[in-house]
This record gives sequence, C-alpha cells and structure tokens, in this order.
Amino acid sequence: MNQQTTVPDEFREILENIKEIRDNVGNAVAKYRSADDIVKIMAVTKTVPPEKINFAISQGITLLGENRVQEYLSKKDSYDSSAEVHIIGHLQTNKVKYIINDVSMIQSVDSVKLAGEINRLAVKNNRKMDVLLEVNIGEEASKSGINAGGVFDLAQQMLPFENIRIRGLMAIPPIGADEKIFAHMRELYEKLKELKLANVEADVLSMGMSGDYELAVKHGSTLVRIGTKLFGARKYMEG
Ligand SMILES: *Cc1c(COP(=O)(O)O)cnc(C)c1O
Repeated sequence: MNQQTTVPDEFREILENIKEIRDNVGNAVAKYRSADDIVKIMAVTKTVPPEKINFAISQGITLLGENRVQEYLSKKDSYDSSAEVHIIGHLQTNKVKYIINDVSMIQSVDSVKLAGEINRLAVKNNRKMDVLLEVNIGEEASKSGINAGGVFDLAQQMLPFENIRIRGLMAIPPIGADEKIFAHMRELYEKLKELKLANVEADVLSMGMSGDYELAVKHGSTLVRIGTKLFGARKYMEG
C-alpha cells in the first residue's frame, strides 16, 4: 500500500474519498458510540468499472455491495477475490442460483418465498447463508423490504430454514429522513436480538449511504454502504 508514490490521477479522488469517509465514520463513532465499536465501510459497486473497485480493495476496502445479479456476473471475474461480496439489491427468487456460491451475505431478504429458495439452494450446496432482513422503514411504495411490523413474523416464519442464519437488519431510509427513522431501525434491531430466536445471530445493522452515513452511525449502524461518495456520481440511472 505505497499509496503516496504511484496513484494514477483517475484513482486519486477515490483515495481521498476513502480517507474522508474513514475520518467521518471515525469521528461519528468517537462522538456517539463506544470507543471499541466497529463500523464497516462497504463499497457499493453499481455502474463502477472493476479497475476502480480493485483500486479501492488495494486501499483496504474489504467488502463489496452488489445491486444487480446480471451486472455482478459480468464483473465478478475481474474483481480482486480478496474482498467479500454481499447482495444489497432486490433479489428475484429465480436469480438466487447464480449467486449462492459467490456471496457471503444476502442483505435484501424481504419474503418467505425468497428465503425459502435461498435455503433450498444453501442446502443443495452444503453451506449456510447469512442474510439480513430488509426493512422498508419509511414505508415507501417505491421501495422493497418488509414493513417494520413484519420483521418478527418473517424471522419466525424462517425458523424451519436451517441453512439460513439471520445476522440482522438492512434499511434504506427515505432521502432526508428524520432521525426518528434511524432510531426506529435501531429499536427493531435491538428487539430482534432480544427475541433470541434459534435462527438469529444478529450483529449487523446495515444502514447509511452517501447522504446519511454519519447519522446512521450515530444511531447504531454497524455497516455503511457507500457508492457515490466513494466512486463519484453514477453515469446512468439505477434500476
Ligand atoms: C446504491 C445503493 C447504495 C449506495 O448509495 P450511494 O448514495 O451512492 O452511496 C447503498 N445501498 C443500496 C441498497 C443501494 O442500492
């Protein structure tokens, strides 16, 4: 990591962005959290070419977030394989088979049907899959995820799925959301832990993106998912 000497111009911005995000996360942890709390920084890769992603990995990013299965499949062979990959976008049941052996977590589980298919393929491939339940915390019609009220029902309905481990919750709060929304997510996460269901080992609250990650850290996030602030503005609309 001799970053001082040989960073090409197009990557210098990424390097500065990583430093800024790390500083801001560190400051938010120092201000609002316990000193030993760890908040992971995920690089969200949609529309970003593999060279840039690999550069971020060379600078210590160890976790990638993928939105679209198709895009991921076209890029994954170019990725430095040392980074872990999580699915963070809406996942269609019929696409689980393409990613079941490549990713270490699916953050976007929002139905029993999807969970059932993940479990079926996890059994078939002799592995356990870590998942997060995605909560539509702002109850926005345009977003996937279960409503806050459905979190514990879904976790319970997933009890028979022995090859799935629920590691926590994920949310995309509305743009400009009130702090209460973030606090509400933290409450749900703490309650999920208290239930002590056999299929829950919760240590991940995935919350916070480019526009709100410091607020998310303030309210208990353990994993922030950063795209634009890391790689720059995306060139085309996301699906
Ligand atoms: C695109 C995306 C992000 C990152 O968004 P930015 O605002 O670019 O940081 C995080 N999480 C999910 C689920 C996304 O789709």
